[in-house]
Amino acid sequence: MALRVPSAALLGSPVAHSLSPEIFQFLASRARKNVRYIRLDVEPRRLPGALRSLRRAGFSGANVTAPLKQDALRLADRLSPEAETIGAVNALRFDKSRLFAHNTDGPAFLSVLKESGAPLKGQEAVVFGAGGAARAVCWALHKAGLAKVVVAARKPRQASVLASRMSKLPGRTVFRGIPWREAGAARASIWINATPAGMRGVPGRAVFPLGKGAGKAFAFDLIYLPPRTPFLRQAAARGMRTVPGLGMLVKQAVASWELWFGPLAAKAAVEKRLMVRLRAALR
Ligand code: NAP
Repeated sequence: MALRVPSAALLGSPVAHSLSPEIFQFLASRARKNVRYIRLDVEPRRLPGALRSLRRAGFSGANVTAPLKQDALRLADRLSPEAETIGAVNALRFDKSRLFAHNTDGPAFLSVLKESGAPLKGQEAVVFGAGGAARAVCWALHKAGLAKVVVAARKPRQASVLASRMSKLPGRTVFRGIPWREAGAARASIWINATPAGMRGVPGRAVFPLGKGAGKAFAFDLIYLPPRTPFLRQAAARGMRTVPGLGMLVKQAVASWELWFGPLAAKAAVEKRLMVRLRAALR
């Protein structure tokens, strides 16, 4: 039987730590809508069954997080243009009998980049990491008109594969993949951590080789917990301007909301209020 309350879910493993239910509760209260958003711990082999059950139960769609992003991409009947170019998905919508997959991370990061005030056109960026989030970041940097994007990963082949995939995009942005330790030689004005290194609960410690001319540069971390990550501390110590991952988290959630439940009124103001609330909760 279909649900009366519009519903969506977060699928992944683990998902217990996710802030998404709080975010959706806040959005529902601002939109004055009764909406349900649940977390489901799902392993990759159980994803097809979980999606069937949600569809049958009348859910509008789901966000997918690690380790389900690639499986979700394979199960989709249709990809949004962003998801197709990025090659990763994080939001699914049930369209009649079809599964429509989207990537809301790329547009969310593009919006964070633009709001940061960092000069973008013709600039150079370094992206640490070469996973799904790094792909979305590379897409955003290309859209923003950067001249050069260097992808640095501890597995250099992963960096080269991502750079050559992105090099196929039309436009002038040049992509290069390099080993992690060589990133320090770059003369970039934008530095991005798209790895989980420094995230609360993730063991190990990474040292980010930030370039010499980094003084006036911007550093973006995709991690939002802790708000001041080791990467951002390292960047701040060099006088760089720092931007944590909370803005991207909020914007990708708002984009998912709109995908399932329609346009959100006074979006910019709602995002601002939500950021204030989450910052306080994460302190
Ligand atoms: P992913 O697909 O698993 O990719 C992770 C990448 O980071 C891989 O290239 C991996 O390389 C590398 N890596 C992992 N641990 C590392 C370490 N200690 N040192 C150096 N490199 C390391 O993950 P993802 O989906 O891209 O997510 C990456 C991060 O972005 C996560 O922290 C995630 O929470 C965050 N994120 C945030 C938002 C947001 O809204 N703020 C959205 C999406 C993602 P190996 O293959 O060598 O392990």
